[in-house]
Amino acid sequence: MKCVKLHTNKQDVPVGKILCLGRNYAEHAKEMKSEIPTTPVVFLKPSTALINNGEPIVLPRISNDVHQEVELVVVIGNNGKNISSTNALDHVLGYGIGLDMTLRDVQGEAKKKGLPWSVAKGFDTSAPVSEIIARDKIANIQDVVIRCSVNGALRQQTSTSKMIFSVAKIIEYVSTIFTLERGDVIFTGTPEGVGQVKSGDVIEAELQGYIKITHPVISL
Ligand code: MG
Repeated sequence: MKCVKLHTNKQDVPVGKILCLGRNYAEHAKEMKSEIPTTPVVFLKPSTALINNGEPIVLPRISNDVHQEVELVVVIGNNGKNISSTNALDHVLGYGIGLDMTLRDVQGEAKKKGLPWSVAKGFDTSAPVSEIIARDKIANIQDVVIRCSVNGALRQQTSTSKMIFSVAKIIEYVSTIFTLERGDVIFTGTPEGVGQVKSGDVIEAELQGYIKITHPVISL
C-alpha cells in the first residue's frame, strides 16, 4: 500500500484516493488556452500513481510529451462529507509539495475526442509527493511559495495566494461529491510554466521553506 510520511515523526499514513484540481491558476489556464473555470475542474489518480521523494518518474511508452506540473498537496486527517469552508482546514492533516505528471499529448487527444483523462494523468509514478508538514506548522496556506526546477533551471514559481479556489473552498466543493477520509490526497492545481521533461532529467520541487523533493526521470 502507498503511504505518505509525516515530516516530524516519520509516521506512515496510508494513501486513499487522489483528487486533483485542473486550471486553478489563471495564468496556467491561459497557457493551456483553456477558460478560467467558475466551478472547480476535478479528476482522480489511483493511489498506485503515488511515489515518494527520490523515486524515479518512469515515462510510459504511449507518450512523447510528458510535462511536469508542480502543485501544493493537501493530505486529509479527519473524515468528512459536506464540509463547510469555514472549518475545512480542521480536516487537514498537513501539506506537502507534489508533481502532477501529465502525458500532454495523450491528454490533448482525450480533450479533442471528449474522452477521460485517466491514462494521461493516472499512470504509475504520475504522482510524486513529499513528506507532509503538519497543518499547524504553516501560518497561512494561501501565502506560501511553490516552485519547480528541471536540471537546475527554474520553470515554475508562484504564491498559493494566486489560486482561483482556495484550499478551504476546494475541500468544501469536493466533499459534496466525495466523502473525504484520512489519507486522501488533494493536488490543488499548477501555476504557469509547465513543460516537457525527458529521460535523464532531474526534477526538483519545493514548498519553499518547508520541504523539497528530487526525482530523476527515466524510461524503461
Ligand atoms: Mg495539475
